[in-house]
Formats: sequence, C-alpha cells, structure tokens
Amino acid sequence: MKRRDFVAAAGAATLLTACGESKECETGSAVSTSKDVIKWSMVTTWPPGFQGLGTGAEYLAEQINKMSGGRMQVKVYGAGELVPALQVFDAVSSGSVQMGHGASYYWKGKLPAASFFSSVPFGLNAQEMNGWLLQGGGLELWQELYAPYDLIPMPGGNTDIQMAGWFNKEINSIEDIQGLKMRIPGLGGEVLKRAGGTPELIAGGEIFSALEMGRIDAAEFVGPYNDLAFGFYKAAKYYYYPGWQEPGTTLEAIINKTAMQELPEDLQAVVKAACLSANVMMLAEFSQKNSEALQTLVEQHQVEVKRLPQDVLDRFEEISEQLVVEQSQGSELAKRIYQSYIDFKAKSVEWKKISQSL
Ligand code: CA
Repeated sequence: MKRRDFVAAAGAATLLTACGESKECETGSAVSTSKDVIKWSMVTTWPPGFQGLGTGAEYLAEQINKMSGGRMQVKVYGAGELVPALQVFDAVSSGSVQMGHGASYYWKGKLPAASFFSSVPFGLNAQEMNGWLLQGGGLELWQELYAPYDLIPMPGGNTDIQMAGWFNKEINSIEDIQGLKMRIPGLGGEVLKRAGGTPELIAGGEIFSALEMGRIDAAEFVGPYNDLAFGFYKAAKYYYYPGWQEPGTTLEAIINKTAMQELPEDLQAVVKAACLSANVMMLAEFSQKNSEALQTLVEQHQVEVKRLPQDVLDRFEEISEQLVVEQSQGSELAKRIYQSYIDFKAKSVEWKKISQSL
C-alpha cells in the first residue's frame, strides 16, 4: 500500500472509532463510506440481461463487488444503455468507462489478429483456449496487442463450441452451399462466401423473422441454450452441427489500464480473479444448459439434428486455414500471435487424438 493510501486509511479508521455511531459524525465526517467506494462502469456488447453472455458480465461485476468487500462497485450497462455495442472497445480505451465485456473478434476491423483471442473457424476448443491463454503464452500476446489502446484484456467467459446453425435447406454436399443465403458473421461468413454462399449480416434479434419469412435459408447464432430461447426451431427444419465457425468462443473482459493502475494491488488481484471466475462459470453454464436445451429441442420440439457432410467440412476447413493466415499479415505482432496459436493447435491435435478417444 502506498504511504498516502495508508495514511488516508489510518485516518478513516481513527475517525470511525472516534465517532462511533453518533449522528453529528455521519454528516461531519469527510470519510463517508460512499466516498471511499471505487465506482466503475462496465459497458457490454450484449443486450441487457442476455442469457449466458449478459448475465455472465453481471456475474463478473457481482464477484468484484463481493470479493472487494464492498470497496468496489461495478455497474453493468447493456449494449446501447451507455454506448452502442460496437463502441465498447473505444469507450474503455478512452477511459470514459473503466471496464467492458464483449468478444475480441468484434474488433477485427481495427485489429485482425484480435480474432485469435475469441475464436477462429476450425480453431481451438474452449479447453484449449484456456490452455493457450492462461498457460501457453496467449494472454501475454493479447495484452501486448491491446497495450497501445491502454487496455488490459482478460478471458471473461466462454460459450463452448457452438452449432453450425438452423437450415431450411438440406445440405447433402458442397453443391448445396452454392447460393445459400445464411446469417453468419465474422470469419465464418467469409469462409461461406469463398465456398460459394452468401453471408448475411443480421442482428440476433432479427434472425427469427428473417428465417421465418424466407429472407435467408439458414442462420447460425450460438448453441442449443440460446437458440432454444430465441425459438428458432419454429422457423427452421434442420439443426446442423458441428459449429466449425466457432469451436470455443472466449469472451473478453477489458479494463482501462489507468483505472487498473489506480487500484491498490489487492483490488487489482480481485478484478483479475473475478474475470477468471466468470470465465469458468460461463463455460460451466453453457455446458450444463446446452445439453439440457438439446434434449428439449429433440424430445419436445422434434428438431432434426444433422451433421454437415464431410466434404462440406473439408472444404470449409481448407478455406479457413488460408483465411486464418491472412489475419496474421498485418504486423510483426500479428505474425507472432498466429505462430503461437498454430503451434499450440498443432501439438494439441496430437494430444486430442489420444486424450479424447475414450
Ligand atoms: Ca455464433
């Protein structure tokens, strides 16, 4: 603790002891509890209260509040409440708010290599993402990438592998991808385009009507948990897997560097530990809710679950590998990020063949 802080804390303790519970001290004391509380705002890319993701951000804030013993108070704002979803990065970077929650691939226009820290097609799964980020040097690279923006990133959740999506057209071969109009954002959308399809950018809340009205043939969103809540089974015939486009999406917590540095060391540790707690709890939630929701979709709503044909997956993978290389072309740092990611993946593939063969 810095000397200045120590003196202030000691002063506060003396005042509280001296005043006890007497009335005049409540207003007279310069050391009211509300003044001492460090108040942070957390802006998010999620609709307020959005299942799994928005509630994950709320859990994170709650953990900081609790673990700090009330010395910190983090208030969460859904997308559009304080800033629009896609301005979260800039808002935290500028310091107008202290914290944000979203996904790094939203910033790929600014930083193409940022995609590696959320998910890339045919990339690492959730468990591997944690291995790479937390033990394999990934987080250090992520911090290096965000440092010029005065941002400290932390993993703050994971959706686990997603589903390939909802289709009103049966996919029997790569031919069926030709002209397929599908809601699929990001790098996955670019893969679909290069494979002959037409990716459409449609916000989550408009997917249902687009599917129902036949404006699109297919749509990917998240997985059974979120997809069941949005009722997509009422608007599409087939539910395809696997989620090649997002095999284990990490969500990010971003913290303004100056705001972080102004915290005493114990509270800095609290913020980081709360992020890691949110990271594991969200994955646990998706793991439990996805399996439950899948059962509901199949048994109650008679959803037909199908695997994408191997030739389609092979073609997508071939295109993805090329596309992923392109994300590393921007800078020397982007190349190092790509190399680190690909090296981890190559080793992990061999381990997975053995470890997941049970
Ligand atoms: Ca998705």
